[in-house]
Amino acid sequence: MPLVPMRQILDEAAKGGYGVGAFNVNNMEQIQAIMQAANDTNSPVIIQASRGALKYSKMIYLKKLMEAAAEEFPHIPVAMHLDHGNSLETCKEAIALGFTSVMMDGSLGEDGKTPNSYEQNVNVTLAVVEYAHPLGVTVEGELGCLGGIEDGHGAGLSDAQVQDHLTNPAQAEDFVAKTGLDALAVAIGTSHGAYKAGRKDPVTGQMLPPVLAMDRIYEIHKRMPKCHMVMHGSSSVPKELVDIINQYGGNMPDTFGIPIEQIQDGIKHGVRKVNVDTDSRLAITGAIRKLFAEKPEKFDPRDYLKPAREAAYDVYVKRMNAFGQAGHAGDYKPITLEDAKALYR
Ligand SMILES: [Zn+2]
Repeated sequence: MPLVPMRQILDEAAKGGYGVGAFNVNNMEQIQAIMQAANDTNSPVIIQASRGALKYSKMIYLKKLMEAAAEEFPHIPVAMHLDHGNSLETCKEAIALGFTSVMMDGSLGEDGKTPNSYEQNVNVTLAVVEYAHPLGVTVEGELGCLGGIEDGHGAGLSDAQVQDHLTNPAQAEDFVAKTGLDALAVAIGTSHGAYKAGRKDPVTGQMLPPVLAMDRIYEIHKRMPKCHMVMHGSSSVPKELVDIINQYGGNMPDTFGIPIEQIQDGIKHGVRKVNVDTDSRLAITGAIRKLFAEKPEKFDPRDYLKPAREAAYDVYVKRMNAFGQAGHAGDYKPITLEDAKALYR
């Protein structure tokens, strides 16, 4: 099966009332773990690469690995998505490489740090839509800003600033109408990474996880029931994974995640794509630390990359079941980019 346009995976998820995990990858082991999990749970899946990932692995290697994934599991619909594209040029490069979907994050300027004006965001997102749709490629845009930094990309806003940059539902309606994008990343108080912008308990002084503005999701879904929403920074940062890292020499205090129940609530209200990166990083790091601690004589990379891949696999299986995509790989006949061109005419 060729890689499918992400739009189809999201449309089908909307029909079935489930969400689809979009998992970030940097290397072969992550891609293999995702595909094995998708196969074993019979799930459609989105594999995504950030600009940082493409730089680390070199674009051509990731492209070939993703093609191998689609070839090894021809019955699994897989979309290959660019995460946080920062310009029309970057999106064009990804499309030329064969990505079936791109994110144009026009919420920030090309530096990936300074928030753009609303007009700038509309203009750059529309430019990407006008380039991508005639090629059948899906476009995700973002309105509002997230906290935290992801591969150097993110406004790095404080908790208070995050609250000032939540997605405005009325503006979201205007944004979708003006750009014609396929999926909208919403800012509801989530941050990238394991150290999410938390809040201080006024009594104990302890750090607590962020409160998400779920009402923004409800409101956007009410205004635009057909709009596919995307939740970024949606790792759950399970305590047991952080504990393994800390138990074997790591140092990760004050980590927060987004509870699975909140993601599931979002899925009930129009969230179709759920971005998860940190959880697989935690699983991989914990497995490697444990192996090194318990068997310090080992030095063959396979000795620690194999358990790392297995630990990541467990995370993907859990997320695929929790988001509801499990069991849906065979529901539909995948279309090609060529077929998708007709959707946009
Ligand atoms: Zn993101």
